[in-house]
Amino acid sequence: MKCIICDSAAKSYFTTDFSVHFGGRFRDQLNKSEYYKCSNCGFTFSKNVYEMDYNSWCELNLKAHSEFESQNVKSRLTNQPPYLAQAAMINMLIEDRIIGGGQQ
Ligand SMILES: [Zn+2]
Repeated sequence: MKCIICDSAAKSYFTTDFSVHFGGRFRDQLNKSEYYKCSNCGFTFSKNVYEMDYNSWCELNLKAHSEFESQNVKSRLTNQPPYLAQAAMINMLIEDRIIGGGQQ
């Protein structure tokens, strides 16, 4: 598989089994996720999520984020993703034409 950022070779890195991970709550949308790591830039991505059709990805994204965001802040086991920083980075990559910005 090729890196979705720099088009270099990416190799299998690890696999997450969502039939058990997160108590299996996302297994209907994503059973297993195989992650690949780029040999050039180090970017790591899920092959399964990348290849998922748009509607399935939207369903998984909404389910996962709705569950996470509805938890009490003090009971969360992980930090909230840096949404603003991620959005700014993606916007910069689109503006500089490093990645495409079109919807599938
Ligand atoms: Zn890369």
